[in-house]
This record gives sequence, structure tokens and C-alpha cells, in this order.
Amino acid sequence: MKFNTKTIHGGQKNTDPAYGAVMPPIYQTTTYAQKSPGDHKGFEYSRSGNPTRSALERAIASIENGNYGMAFGSGLAAIDAVLKLLKAGDEVISTNDLYGGSYRLFTSIFEDFGVKFKFIGMQQANAIEDHINDKTKLIWVESPTNPMMNIIDIQKAAAVAKKHNVLLAVDNTFATPYLQRPLDLGADIVMHSATKYLGGHSDVVLGALAVKDEQLAKKLYFIQKASGGICGPQDSFLVLRGLKTLHVRMQRHCENGKKVAEYLYDHPKIEKVYWPGFKNHPNYEIAKAQMNDFGGMVSFTTKGNDYEEAIKIVENLKLFTLAESLGGVESLAGHPASMTHASIPKKEREKTGVVDSLIRLSVGIEDATDLIADLKQAIG
Ligand SMILES: *Cc1c(COP(=O)(O)O)cnc(C)c1O
Repeated sequence: MKFNTKTIHGGQKNTDPAYGAVMPPIYQTTTYAQKSPGDHKGFEYSRSGNPTRSALERAIASIENGNYGMAFGSGLAAIDAVLKLLKAGDEVISTNDLYGGSYRLFTSIFEDFGVKFKFIGMQQANAIEDHINDKTKLIWVESPTNPMMNIIDIQKAAAVAKKHNVLLAVDNTFATPYLQRPLDLGADIVMHSATKYLGGHSDVVLGALAVKDEQLAKKLYFIQKASGGICGPQDSFLVLRGLKTLHVRMQRHCENGKKVAEYLYDHPKIEKVYWPGFKNHPNYEIAKAQMNDFGGMVSFTTKGNDYEEAIKIVENLKLFTLAESLGGVESLAGHPASMTHASIPKKEREKTGVVDSLIRLSVGIEDATDLIADLKQAIG
């Protein structure tokens, strides 16, 4: 089955046996009747399993070319479950230009339980190997990174992970399986904040994992059930519905992202545009090789790098909503230095490129002409 068919039919049974409903019903139930102790229809209690959640989990496994999927109450709950594969004394090597919430979970929660983290630049994937020792158990990769749009070579990272018998997990939130499929590139675990592109409509917070390996899946299902960071049936339904249009939405996100990036590139007031589809992007060759297109996330800075000017631009925008998050049908703009990255000291954030004038756009699927007109009036 091709990807564009999988988003709609992957892992789905044809119709519901009770009434033929085309969409899986929202099984809003905590428990399931048993004929005799242990004699049931596959579900006992909705923390360990719920038919609507299972439908979503199968769909996510299918579009990521995995064999097993797990859905959680948020992206961070999914990452939390992955980290619980580890124990005190284990070490993790992570991308340094990382989603802020992942960084906070690693350093403010898991470090207290004795897990050590090394944050490194991974644009040269071979650099990962220099940091591996016999305590290293997990490599955590995010690509493209947020908000700088760096690209990490997943296949190379996987080769390093295999050589040293270390797990490789990839946060695939920005790319989605429409653009890249980390399990096919050799990763062991793929993770999603389905809150973003998979859900796609800015109306649900949900997280997911997909894996190929049965033993790894068993451990993750155990953690899901034992720690309980699950999502409810209503939210599972919403993401399942979102998935069915992922391919058409992503196609438009990519087309609009390209038009917006090119518009900004030629704008006299703009200094730099970060979008992996430019031939002069430092990781363009890797992006071209491992992604099917370049996505709808675009960051840029203004000449003079003025904080106040950047604030004015995001305030002036009318169609782009100034808001956190990304990946919905509507266009959003964010100012990392005062929003998502405000808690990182200026010196630290500037090291990774998050300067005062940096603006991050989640380019939606509106008409690109309107989006460009909005940027034009806001930038001046
Ligand atoms: C939003 C996001 C997360 C966290 O997901 P939540 O659903 O908000 O918990 C993790 N990684 C990336 C790249 C994200 O954008």
C-alpha cells in the first residue's frame, strides 16, 4: 500500500461490525464485560487498551512503516515512556538544538533519577561516536530541529547506534512520515507530538511512538500501561481523523513553505532565511536525500537584528496568528527569544542561532498569495 493510501486505510479494519460505521466509534468506556474471568474480546480496562486508541495506534504504526504503535496523552508523555526504558547510570546523547520541552524533561526530571544527558551538535553525525561509552543506551535525534531547521543524517546516526548497540529514537514531529520515515532509515523508535501535523487542526494534544521490533514494543506497551500516560478515546479519534488528510495537507504545507521562504529570501529587510530546501542550506544534501520535500516550517531574521522590530512584525501580522505550537492548517508565527526560548539565557540561545530578531513561521494551507501579502504588510 502506498503512503497516500495508508494515511486513510493503514491498519484499519474495513468497517465496524456492529453497524458498519466507516469511522471507528469513540469507545468512551473504561471497562469491558467479561463472560468469565479473562474471557473477553481483547480489552479489559482502557488504560491498557481501548479500541479507538488501538485504531489510532495501528494507523500510526502503518504510516511510519512500523509494526507497533503506542499513543499517549501528549508528545512529552511519549518521550517520557521512551526514557523509562533506561535506568539510573545510563547515558543519553541528544541533539543540542532541541524542542525546549524535551530538554526540560531530560534535565529537570530524568537527571534527578540518575540518567545523564550529553547535548551535542549532530550535523556531522560521526561526532555522535566520540561521545559514546559503555553507559550510553540511547541516542535522541530531532530533525529538522526547532527553530533553526538543521538536518541530521538519520541513516548515519543509525549506523553509529547499531555499531555500539545503542537505541536510536527520532522525534519526527516536524517532518511527519510524509517527508521522512526514520524506521526505514534504521532508527529503533520514532516519536511524534501528534498535537502538531498528525492531528493537524490545533484541537488536540496527543503523542505517539512507533517501532518495528517486537521485544521493544512489549517493553513500551508495559510502560504505557504501568505508567499510564495514555490519551482518551475522543482525542484518539480526532488524531485518526486528522491523519486521513495528512498527505494532502503536507503537500500544501510544503508548497506554501517554499513560496514563503523564497519571498522572504528576496526581501531587502531580511537577513537570513532558515529552510532546508535552499541549495545553500548547510545540510541541503542530507535533507534532499532523506526527506521527500522540505516542509512548512520557515524561520528568518531581520537585518540589524533588532528585538523591537521583530516584535512589531509579529504584532502586525493579521493572517498569521502569534501563538506557540505548529503544524495546524492555519498559519502561526512565533518569536522564540521572547516565547519558547525565553527561559534560555541570551548568550546560550544565541550560540544555536536563536537571536533577538528570529521569527519562526508554521506556514499553513491557506492561499500562499494571502500569506505573502500578510508578511509584506507586516515587515514593510
Ligand atoms: C510540541 C513538540 C513536542 C512536545 O509535544 P506535546 O504534544 O506538546 O507534549 C515534542 N517535540 C517537538 C519537536 C514538538 O514540536
